[in-house]
Amino acid sequence: MNNYSDIVIAGGGMVGISMALHLGAVLPRQTSICLVEGFALPRDDAGGEHGYHPSFDARSTALSYSSRVIYEQLGVWQDLQAGLCPIERIHVSSRGRFGSTVLRAQDYGWPALGYVAENAWLGQVLVRALYRQRRVRVLSPARVCHATPRGTGVSLQVDGADAGALQTALLLVADGAASGLRRQLGVGVMEKPYGQHALVANVAAAQPHRGCAYERFTGQGPLALLPLLPAPGGDCRGAVVWSLPPERAMQLRDCPEPVFLHALQQRFGYRLGRLLRVGERHCYPLALVRAVEQVRQAVVVMGNAAHALHPVAGQGYNLALRDVAELGAVLAQALAEGRSPGDLATLQSYQRRQQPDQARTIGFSDLLPGLFMRRDPLLGLARDTALAGLDILPALKREFVRHAAGLAASAGRDDG
Ligand SMILES: Cc1cc2nc3c(=O)[nH]c(=O)nc-3n(C[C@H](O)[C@H](O)[C@H](O)COP(=O)(O)OP(=O)(O)OC[C@H]3O[C@@H](n4cnc5c(N)ncnc54)[C@H](O)[C@@H]3O)c2cc1C
Repeated sequence: MNNYSDIVIAGGGMVGISMALHLGAVLPRQTSICLVEGFALPRDDAGGEHGYHPSFDARSTALSYSSRVIYEQLGVWQDLQAGLCPIERIHVSSRGRFGSTVLRAQDYGWPALGYVAENAWLGQVLVRALYRQRRVRVLSPARVCHATPRGTGVSLQVDGADAGALQTALLLVADGAASGLRRQLGVGVMEKPYGQHALVANVAAAQPHRGCAYERFTGQGPLALLPLLPAPGGDCRGAVVWSLPPERAMQLRDCPEPVFLHALQQRFGYRLGRLLRVGERHCYPLALVRAVEQVRQAVVVMGNAAHALHPVAGQGYNLALRDVAELGAVLAQALAEGRSPGDLATLQSYQRRQQPDQARTIGFSDLLPGLFMRRDPLLGLARDTALAGLDILPALKREFVRHAAGLAASAGRDDG
């Protein structure tokens, strides 16, 4: 294989593919870009037929307004829209207490507060756009098994399709929360386990959700139910993300369907009428994982490899996409000024620009689960008052919505 690429992205998950698409759009043609993904991505010859069918078993992601803007700029929003369920309202409540609030898109003059995408759909649209762009060389299935800094760049050993040695001026490490490359490069992590698992499943309910997302804080942990587009048979569907103590999460993952539906109905109530069916159930251990360093000469750590968050506020992917957009802009400027993509000062300026957004978003995601699980009665009163207060104080509510939409990010950006 051709053994040099200006930029190599190791990991073609949702973040790696978005990064590849973004760089393909903003960097000059002569800059070579290569994406290496461990699993087999769908092939280029899928043509117009993408074979996507809504199912009960897909995982989902809530895309914020900031992600919509980024995908619009990339020209993929139009294609994505057909498979997205807009969130028109978010109902936030605390089980067994009086505090609750409803956030409405129309109160802010927005078409939606966010959009729920099934990951299968999102992945398919992004991969098709990548092939259509014809800009990025894709090695898949293939793995970067060794990364060694050499001179001003990095030497890579790739296993799998078109295997061999590869040199690059810039390695983007996007291989997920358990990143092997991060470990290999000696980048440390700070890990804060939440002592909980997220139980994820799609459910069918008797009544329509009418574009409402539910965020319910219970004594055992937060429970979110996101609206999905109806299934082909017309069933009303929702995506459940339920944070629970690990043993309980695994019990509920493995128990018979009626036992699961009964337990969920007890926690969630009857806002969507009777819960009728559940699809495949999966558990994910929850921890806040942060890379101690995100940039070095010729290396950037990104996506879940840089920061994996609690899913309670649906912020992890949205934050990673804002990192993608910022890194793309900084690299485009550096190349236009004749600098190498791996230039340390360039990469540090990216980190400085994204740091305030990362700190704010991670802080917000980390605060919520702890705040709502503590049993302290005074704290309980304070948070219920805060929830009720959101309804009373429009300015506070607006600030909360700006966080959820990923717009707080642009407020305090450090341009240094
Ligand atoms: C339950 C749950 C719900 C969530 N909901 C939301 C939400 O609503 N909104 C939101 O914004 N975020 C959400 N998130 C966060 C979101 O899922 C992550 O931000 C996102 O998946 C991160 O993607 P990634 O590409 O960084 O990592 P991954 O998805 O882990 O992808 C890493 C990729 O790298 C590949 N790989 C690994 N090693 C190598 C190697 N050596 N060489 C080549 N390839 C390699 C893997 O095959 C994989 O495809 C949620 C997370 C969870 C757990």
